[in-house]
Amino acid sequence: DTAVGVIVNEKFKVHSKKDVILSAGAIGSPQIMLLSGLGPREELESVGITCLKDMPHVGKHMEDHIASALRFSSKGNKDIGSVNDKKAEGFPGAFFSLYDYIFKGQGILSSSSYDGTLFYRSSNPPSDPGPDIQIGVFCSPGNTGLFEGNLKYKDNYLLKQNELYDDSEGFLLVPTLLHLRSRGEVRLKSVDPLAAPLIEPNYFDNNEDIQSGIEMLRKCLEIVKQHPLSDMVNPEPILPLDMIKKHGSSESDEFWEDFLRSYANTLYHPTSTLKIGKVVDERLRVYGIPNLRVIDASIMPHIISGNTNAPSIMIGEKGTDLIVEDYSLKQNVCNYDPPAKWLSFL
Ligand SMILES: Cc1cc2nc3c(=O)[nH]c(=O)nc-3n(C[C@H](O)[C@H](O)[C@H](O)COP(=O)(O)OP(=O)(O)OC[C@H]3O[C@@H](n4cnc5c(N)ncnc54)[C@H](O)[C@@H]3O)c2cc1C
Repeated sequence: DTAVGVIVNEKFKVHSKKDVILSAGAIGSPQIMLLSGLGPREELESVGITCLKDMPHVGKHMEDHIASALRFSSKGNKDIGSVNDKKAEGFPGAFFSLYDYIFKGQGILSSSSYDGTLFYRSSNPPSDPGPDIQIGVFCSPGNTGLFEGNLKYKDNYLLKQNELYDDSEGFLLVPTLLHLRSRGEVRLKSVDPLAAPLIEPNYFDNNEDIQSGIEMLRKCLEIVKQHPLSDMVNPEPILPLDMIKKHGSSESDEFWEDFLRSYANTLYHPTSTLKIGKVVDERLRVYGIPNLRVIDASIMPHIISGNTNAPSIMIGEKGTDLIVEDYSLKQNVCNYDPPAKWLSFL
Protein backbone atom coordinates (compact mmCIF):
# COMPACT_ATOMS: atom_id res chain seq x y z
CA ASP A 1 0.00 0.00 0.00
CA THR A 2 3.03 2.31 -0.01
CA ALA A 3 3.29 5.21 -2.48
CA VAL A 4 6.42 4.69 -4.56
CA GLY A 5 6.22 7.22 -7.38
CA VAL A 6 4.20 8.88 -10.09
CA ILE A 7 3.23 7.66 -13.55
CA VAL A 8 3.37 10.81 -15.69
CA ASN A 9 2.55 8.98 -18.92
CA GLU A 10 3.22 5.58 -20.48
CA LYS A 11 6.88 6.39 -21.08
CA PHE A 12 7.70 8.53 -18.07
CA LYS A 13 7.58 7.21 -14.52
CA VAL A 14 9.12 8.88 -11.50
CA HIS A 15 10.21 6.79 -8.51
CA SER A 16 10.45 8.40 -5.11
CA LYS A 17 12.79 7.52 -2.26
CA LYS A 18 10.77 9.29 0.39
CA ASP A 19 7.32 10.90 0.07
CA VAL A 20 5.17 11.37 -2.99
CA ILE A 21 3.71 14.87 -2.62
CA LEU A 22 0.29 15.44 -4.10
CA SER A 23 -0.20 19.14 -4.77
CA ALA A 24 -2.66 19.45 -7.64
CA GLY A 25 -5.26 21.57 -5.83
CA ALA A 26 -8.66 20.79 -4.36
CA ILE A 27 -9.97 19.45 -7.68
CA GLY A 28 -6.80 17.92 -9.15
CA SER A 29 -5.50 16.14 -6.04
CA PRO A 30 -8.64 14.09 -5.35
CA GLN A 31 -8.84 13.34 -9.08
CA ILE A 32 -5.31 11.88 -9.02
CA MET A 33 -6.08 9.86 -5.89
CA LEU A 34 -9.25 8.49 -7.47
CA LEU A 35 -7.40 7.64 -10.69
CA SER A 36 -4.84 5.82 -8.54
CA GLY A 37 -7.53 3.59 -7.06
CA LEU A 38 -7.77 5.42 -3.73
CA GLY A 39 -11.35 6.45 -3.07
CA PRO A 40 -14.92 5.25 -2.53
CA ARG A 41 -14.96 1.65 -3.81
CA GLU A 42 -18.36 1.72 -5.53
CA GLU A 43 -17.67 4.98 -7.27
CA LEU A 44 -14.30 3.79 -8.56
CA GLU A 45 -15.63 0.48 -9.79
CA SER A 46 -18.52 2.21 -11.57
CA VAL A 47 -15.99 3.94 -13.86
CA GLY A 48 -13.83 0.84 -14.26
CA ILE A 49 -11.03 1.57 -11.80
CA THR A 50 -9.74 -1.15 -9.48
CA CYS A 51 -10.07 0.07 -5.92
CA LEU A 52 -6.75 -0.37 -4.09
CA LYS A 53 -8.10 1.08 -0.87
CA ASP A 54 -11.67 1.96 -0.05
CA MET A 55 -11.45 5.59 1.11
CA PRO A 56 -14.98 7.00 1.32
CA HIS A 57 -13.94 10.60 2.05
CA VAL A 58 -11.72 11.18 -1.00
CA GLY A 59 -13.24 13.98 -3.10
CA LYS A 60 -16.04 14.64 -0.59
CA HIS A 61 -16.71 17.54 1.82
CA MET A 62 -15.89 20.19 -0.80
CA GLU A 63 -16.43 23.75 0.42
CA ASP A 64 -16.33 26.94 -1.60
CA HIS A 65 -17.27 30.61 -1.51
CA ILE A 66 -20.19 31.70 -3.64
CA ALA A 67 -20.89 35.27 -4.66
CA SER A 68 -23.26 37.36 -6.69
CA ALA A 69 -22.73 40.83 -8.10
CA LEU A 70 -25.05 43.79 -7.68
CA ARG A 71 -24.41 46.66 -10.04
CA PHE A 72 -25.53 50.13 -8.98
CA SER A 73 -25.44 53.08 -11.36
CA SER A 74 -24.26 56.45 -10.14
CA LYS A 75 -26.65 59.38 -10.02
CA GLY A 76 -26.33 61.52 -13.14
CA ASN A 77 -23.85 58.99 -14.51
CA LYS A 78 -21.15 60.66 -12.39
CA ASP A 79 -17.78 59.02 -12.11
CA ILE A 80 -17.65 57.91 -8.47
CA GLY A 81 -14.59 55.74 -8.52
CA SER A 82 -12.52 56.86 -11.51
CA VAL A 83 -11.89 53.25 -12.35
CA ASN A 84 -14.06 52.59 -15.35
CA ASP A 85 -11.78 50.46 -17.50
CA LYS A 86 -12.64 52.29 -20.73
CA LYS A 87 -10.79 55.32 -19.37
CA ALA A 88 -7.44 53.59 -19.42
CA GLU A 89 -7.70 52.31 -22.96
CA GLY A 90 -5.96 53.76 -26.03
CA PHE A 91 -5.22 57.42 -26.58
CA PRO A 92 -5.91 59.79 -24.88
CA GLY A 93 -7.48 57.58 -22.14
CA ALA A 94 -4.30 55.76 -21.18
CA PHE A 95 -2.29 59.00 -21.30
CA PHE A 96 -4.66 60.82 -18.94
CA SER A 97 -4.81 57.80 -16.61
CA LEU A 98 -1.05 57.81 -16.36
CA TYR A 99 -1.00 61.58 -15.82
CA ASP A 100 -3.66 61.32 -13.07
CA TYR A 101 -1.73 58.61 -11.31
CA ILE A 102 1.74 60.16 -11.52
CA PHE A 103 0.79 63.74 -10.68
CA LYS A 104 -2.32 63.36 -8.53
CA GLY A 105 -2.12 59.78 -7.24
CA GLN A 106 -5.65 59.26 -8.55
CA GLY A 107 -7.54 57.44 -11.26
CA ILE A 108 -7.79 53.88 -12.48
CA LEU A 109 -4.09 53.16 -11.95
CA SER A 110 -4.34 54.02 -8.25
CA SER A 111 -6.92 51.32 -7.65
CA SER A 112 -7.08 47.56 -7.82
CA SER A 113 -10.78 48.26 -8.44
CA TYR A 114 -11.43 46.02 -5.42
CA ASP A 115 -11.39 48.99 -3.09
CA GLY A 116 -12.95 47.78 0.11
CA THR A 117 -14.47 44.79 1.77
CA LEU A 118 -16.81 44.20 4.67
CA PHE A 119 -16.93 41.04 6.79
CA TYR A 120 -19.75 40.32 9.23
CA ARG A 121 -21.75 37.56 10.85
CA SER A 122 -25.28 37.04 9.59
CA SER A 123 -28.25 36.60 11.92
CA ASN A 124 -27.99 32.81 11.50
CA PRO A 125 -24.30 31.99 11.10
CA PRO A 126 -23.11 28.38 10.82
CA SER A 127 -21.12 26.99 13.72
CA ASP A 128 -17.75 28.10 12.28
CA PRO A 129 -16.41 31.04 14.25
CA GLY A 130 -15.76 34.28 12.43
CA PRO A 131 -17.69 36.08 9.74
CA ASP A 132 -19.90 34.14 7.36
CA ILE A 133 -20.57 37.01 4.93
CA GLN A 134 -18.17 39.17 2.93
CA ILE A 135 -19.29 42.11 0.82
CA GLY A 136 -16.69 43.27 -1.66
CA VAL A 137 -16.85 46.90 -2.80
CA PHE A 138 -15.63 47.51 -6.34
CA CYS A 139 -15.34 51.09 -7.53
CA SER A 140 -15.95 49.85 -11.02
CA PRO A 141 -19.37 49.12 -12.44
CA GLY A 142 -18.20 46.07 -14.38
CA ASN A 143 -18.71 45.79 -18.12
CA THR A 144 -20.41 43.30 -20.39
CA GLY A 145 -17.24 41.20 -20.33
CA LEU A 146 -17.70 40.69 -16.59
CA PHE A 147 -21.44 40.22 -16.58
CA GLU A 148 -21.91 38.16 -19.69
CA GLY A 149 -18.50 36.52 -19.80
CA ASN A 150 -17.61 35.73 -16.19
CA LEU A 151 -20.97 35.86 -14.48
CA LYS A 152 -22.99 34.38 -17.37
CA TYR A 153 -25.75 36.97 -17.25
CA LYS A 154 -28.02 36.54 -20.24
CA ASP A 155 -27.05 38.16 -23.56
CA ASN A 156 -26.95 41.93 -23.65
CA TYR A 157 -27.72 42.28 -19.97
CA LEU A 158 -26.32 45.79 -19.86
CA LEU A 159 -27.15 46.90 -23.37
CA LYS A 160 -30.81 46.05 -22.97
CA GLN A 161 -31.25 48.38 -20.02
CA ASN A 162 -32.75 51.44 -21.71
CA GLU A 163 -30.60 54.21 -20.34
CA LEU A 164 -27.49 52.17 -19.66
CA TYR A 165 -24.54 51.34 -21.74
CA ASP A 166 -21.44 49.30 -21.28
CA ASP A 167 -19.22 52.06 -19.91
CA SER A 168 -21.80 53.75 -17.70
CA GLU A 169 -20.61 54.86 -14.27
CA GLY A 170 -21.41 53.13 -11.05
CA PHE A 171 -20.06 50.57 -8.65
CA LEU A 172 -20.46 46.95 -7.67
CA LEU A 173 -21.18 45.18 -4.45
CA VAL A 174 -20.14 41.54 -4.42
CA PRO A 175 -21.87 39.78 -1.54
CA THR A 176 -20.33 36.41 -0.76
CA LEU A 177 -21.38 33.47 1.39
CA LEU A 178 -18.24 32.32 3.19
CA HIS A 179 -19.48 29.25 5.06
CA LEU A 180 -22.05 27.33 3.10
CA ARG A 181 -23.66 24.46 4.95
CA SER A 182 -23.99 22.48 1.75
CA ARG A 183 -21.01 20.37 0.67
CA GLY A 184 -19.84 19.46 -2.81
CA GLU A 185 -17.79 16.64 -4.23
CA VAL A 186 -15.32 15.69 -6.94
CA ARG A 187 -15.81 12.39 -8.77
CA LEU A 188 -14.40 10.75 -11.86
CA LYS A 189 -16.17 10.81 -15.19
CA SER A 190 -13.69 8.47 -16.82
CA VAL A 191 -10.39 6.66 -16.38
CA ASP A 192 -8.71 9.13 -18.74
CA PRO A 193 -6.33 11.22 -16.60
CA LEU A 194 -6.65 14.07 -19.09
CA ALA A 195 -10.45 14.20 -18.85
CA ALA A 196 -11.96 16.76 -16.49
CA PRO A 197 -13.45 15.28 -13.34
CA LEU A 198 -17.07 15.73 -12.38
CA ILE A 199 -17.49 18.58 -9.90
CA GLU A 200 -20.80 18.62 -8.03
CA PRO A 201 -20.70 21.76 -5.88
CA ASN A 202 -24.28 21.32 -4.56
CA TYR A 203 -24.53 25.03 -3.81
CA PHE A 204 -27.79 25.97 -2.08
CA ASP A 205 -28.61 22.37 -1.31
CA ASN A 206 -29.32 23.60 2.18
CA ASN A 207 -32.20 26.02 2.66
CA GLU A 208 -30.37 27.89 5.43
CA ASP A 209 -27.75 28.91 2.86
CA ILE A 210 -30.53 30.41 0.75
CA GLN A 211 -31.88 32.33 3.75
CA SER A 212 -28.40 33.68 4.57
CA GLY A 213 -27.98 34.58 0.89
CA ILE A 214 -31.24 36.52 0.76
CA GLU A 215 -30.32 38.32 3.98
CA MET A 216 -26.92 39.33 2.58
CA LEU A 217 -28.45 40.65 -0.66
CA ARG A 218 -30.95 42.71 1.33
CA LYS A 219 -28.05 44.02 3.45
CA CYS A 220 -26.45 45.35 0.24
CA LEU A 221 -29.66 47.18 -0.64
CA GLU A 222 -29.64 48.71 2.85
CA ILE A 223 -26.00 49.80 2.54
CA VAL A 224 -26.54 51.82 -0.64
CA LYS A 225 -29.43 53.67 0.98
CA GLN A 226 -27.09 55.04 3.66
CA HIS A 227 -25.34 58.40 3.47
CA PRO A 228 -22.92 59.12 1.76
CA LEU A 229 -23.55 56.41 -0.83
CA SER A 230 -27.19 57.43 -1.08
CA ASP A 231 -26.06 60.82 -2.43
CA MET A 232 -24.05 59.18 -5.17
CA VAL A 233 -25.80 56.07 -6.40
CA ASN A 234 -29.27 54.99 -7.41
CA PRO A 235 -30.52 52.61 -4.71
CA GLU A 236 -32.02 50.10 -7.14
CA PRO A 237 -29.47 47.66 -8.54
CA ILE A 238 -29.47 46.86 -12.23
CA LEU A 239 -31.02 43.43 -12.27
CA PRO A 240 -31.20 40.85 -15.04
CA LEU A 241 -34.23 41.52 -17.19
CA ASP A 242 -35.25 37.88 -17.35
CA MET A 243 -35.63 37.91 -13.55
CA ILE A 244 -37.72 41.09 -13.56
CA LYS A 245 -39.94 39.76 -16.34
CA LYS A 246 -40.48 36.53 -14.45
CA HIS A 247 -41.17 38.00 -11.00
CA GLY A 248 -42.59 41.44 -11.84
CA SER A 249 -40.46 43.15 -9.19
CA SER A 250 -37.55 42.40 -6.88
CA GLU A 251 -39.53 42.73 -3.65
CA SER A 252 -40.08 39.10 -2.78
CA ASP A 253 -37.78 36.53 -1.20
CA GLU A 254 -38.67 34.27 -4.15
CA PHE A 255 -37.07 36.81 -6.49
CA TRP A 256 -33.84 36.83 -4.52
CA GLU A 257 -33.77 33.06 -4.16
CA ASP A 258 -34.16 32.75 -7.92
CA PHE A 259 -31.48 35.42 -8.40
CA LEU A 260 -29.06 33.46 -6.21
CA ARG A 261 -29.82 30.15 -7.86
CA SER A 262 -29.54 31.64 -11.36
CA TYR A 263 -26.73 34.15 -11.03
CA ALA A 264 -24.54 33.38 -8.01
CA ASN A 265 -21.10 32.13 -8.94
CA THR A 266 -18.18 30.33 -7.45
CA LEU A 267 -15.26 32.50 -6.37
CA TYR A 268 -13.05 29.56 -7.37
CA HIS A 269 -12.06 28.81 -3.79
CA PRO A 270 -12.62 25.04 -3.53
CA THR A 271 -11.14 23.39 -0.44
CA SER A 272 -11.40 20.40 1.88
CA THR A 273 -11.75 17.55 -0.63
CA LEU A 274 -8.94 15.62 1.12
CA LYS A 275 -9.39 17.24 4.48
CA ILE A 276 -7.35 16.80 7.64
CA GLY A 277 -9.06 14.30 9.91
CA LYS A 278 -10.81 12.46 7.07
CA VAL A 279 -8.16 11.72 4.43
CA VAL A 280 -4.90 13.09 5.85
CA ASP A 281 -3.55 13.37 9.38
CA GLU A 282 -2.27 16.53 11.03
CA ARG A 283 1.11 16.06 9.31
CA LEU A 284 -0.69 15.85 5.96
CA ARG A 285 0.06 12.12 5.51
CA VAL A 286 -2.68 10.12 3.81
CA TYR A 287 -4.22 7.66 6.28
CA GLY A 288 -3.24 4.09 5.48
CA ILE A 289 -0.96 4.93 2.53
CA PRO A 290 2.64 5.34 3.74
CA ASN A 291 4.79 7.87 1.89
CA LEU A 292 1.87 9.79 0.39
CA ARG A 293 1.34 13.36 1.51
CA VAL A 294 -1.08 16.04 0.29
CA ILE A 295 -0.02 19.68 0.45
CA ASP A 296 -2.58 22.06 -1.02
CA ALA A 297 -6.00 23.64 -0.40
CA SER A 298 -7.70 20.24 -0.36
CA ILE A 299 -6.40 19.51 3.16
CA MET A 300 -8.18 22.47 4.84
CA PRO A 301 -10.45 21.02 7.53
CA HIS A 302 -12.92 23.77 6.63
CA ILE A 303 -12.86 26.68 4.27
CA ILE A 304 -11.62 29.90 5.82
CA SER A 305 -13.50 33.22 6.02
CA GLY A 306 -11.46 34.86 3.31
CA ASN A 307 -9.65 34.29 0.04
CA THR A 308 -7.82 31.01 -0.21
CA ASN A 309 -4.62 31.82 -2.10
CA ALA A 310 -2.48 33.10 0.78
CA PRO A 311 -3.58 30.26 3.10
CA SER A 312 -2.69 27.76 0.35
CA ILE A 313 0.79 29.25 0.16
CA MET A 314 0.97 28.97 3.95
CA ILE A 315 -0.03 25.29 3.68
CA GLY A 316 2.81 24.83 1.19
CA GLU A 317 5.28 26.43 3.61
CA LYS A 318 4.01 24.42 6.57
CA GLY A 319 4.02 21.21 4.53
CA THR A 320 7.66 21.81 3.66
CA ASP A 321 8.49 22.29 7.35
CA LEU A 322 6.75 19.01 8.19
CA ILE A 323 8.76 17.10 5.58
CA VAL A 324 11.99 18.68 6.79
CA GLU A 325 11.16 17.66 10.37
CA ASP A 326 9.96 14.16 9.55
CA TYR A 327 13.07 13.29 7.54
CA SER A 328 15.47 15.36 9.68
CA LEU A 329 16.51 17.29 6.60
CA LYS A 330 18.56 20.47 6.69
CA GLN A 331 16.33 23.51 6.28
CA ASN A 332 17.40 25.54 3.28
CA VAL A 333 17.22 29.19 4.24
CA CYS A 334 16.66 31.58 1.38
CA ASN A 335 18.77 34.73 1.67
CA TYR A 336 16.93 36.69 -0.95
CA ASP A 337 17.41 40.44 -0.71
CA PRO A 338 14.13 42.18 -1.39
CA PRO A 339 14.25 44.81 -4.16
CA ALA A 340 13.54 47.55 -1.60
CA LYS A 341 17.01 46.92 -0.17
CA TRP A 342 18.65 47.29 -3.55
CA LEU A 343 16.66 50.45 -4.19
CA SER A 344 17.76 51.98 -0.88
CA PHE A 345 21.35 51.64 -2.16
CA LEU A 346 20.43 53.87 -5.11
C1 LIG B 1 -10.03 32.14 -11.59
C2 LIG B 1 -9.54 32.10 -10.17
C3 LIG B 1 -9.42 33.28 -9.46
C4 LIG B 1 -8.97 33.25 -8.14
N1 LIG B 1 -8.82 34.43 -7.47
C5 LIG B 1 -8.32 34.42 -6.23
C6 LIG B 1 -8.08 35.62 -5.54
O1 LIG B 1 -8.31 36.71 -6.06
N2 LIG B 1 -7.58 35.55 -4.28
C7 LIG B 1 -7.31 34.38 -3.66
O2 LIG B 1 -6.86 34.37 -2.52
N3 LIG B 1 -7.54 33.22 -4.29
C8 LIG B 1 -8.02 33.21 -5.56
N4 LIG B 1 -8.24 32.03 -6.21
C9 LIG B 1 -8.04 30.78 -5.47
C10 LIG B 1 -6.58 30.38 -5.38
O3 LIG B 1 -5.99 30.48 -6.67
C11 LIG B 1 -6.51 28.94 -4.87
O4 LIG B 1 -7.14 28.84 -3.61
C12 LIG B 1 -5.07 28.47 -4.71
O5 LIG B 1 -4.34 28.63 -5.91
C13 LIG B 1 -5.07 27.01 -4.31
O6 LIG B 1 -3.75 26.55 -4.29
P1 LIG B 1 -3.42 25.02 -4.50
O7 LIG B 1 -1.96 24.88 -4.37
O8 LIG B 1 -4.30 24.21 -3.62
O9 LIG B 1 -3.88 24.68 -5.99
P2 LIG B 1 -3.46 25.33 -7.38
O10 LIG B 1 -2.91 26.70 -7.19
O11 LIG B 1 -4.64 25.16 -8.27
O12 LIG B 1 -2.26 24.42 -7.86
C14 LIG B 1 -2.47 23.14 -8.36
C15 LIG B 1 -1.51 22.90 -9.51
O13 LIG B 1 -1.58 21.53 -9.89
C16 LIG B 1 -1.66 21.43 -11.30
N5 LIG B 1 -2.38 20.19 -11.62
C17 LIG B 1 -3.68 19.90 -11.43
N6 LIG B 1 -3.96 18.65 -11.84
C18 LIG B 1 -2.80 18.13 -12.30
C19 LIG B 1 -2.44 16.88 -12.87
N7 LIG B 1 -3.32 15.91 -13.04
N8 LIG B 1 -1.16 16.70 -13.23
C20 LIG B 1 -0.24 17.68 -13.06
N9 LIG B 1 -0.53 18.89 -12.53
C21 LIG B 1 -1.79 19.10 -12.15
C22 LIG B 1 -2.40 22.68 -11.72
O14 LIG B 1 -2.12 22.99 -13.07
C23 LIG B 1 -1.84 23.71 -10.75
O15 LIG B 1 -0.66 24.28 -11.24
C24 LIG B 1 -8.67 32.02 -7.53
C25 LIG B 1 -8.77 30.84 -8.26
C26 LIG B 1 -9.19 30.88 -9.57
C27 LIG B 1 -9.28 29.59 -10.36
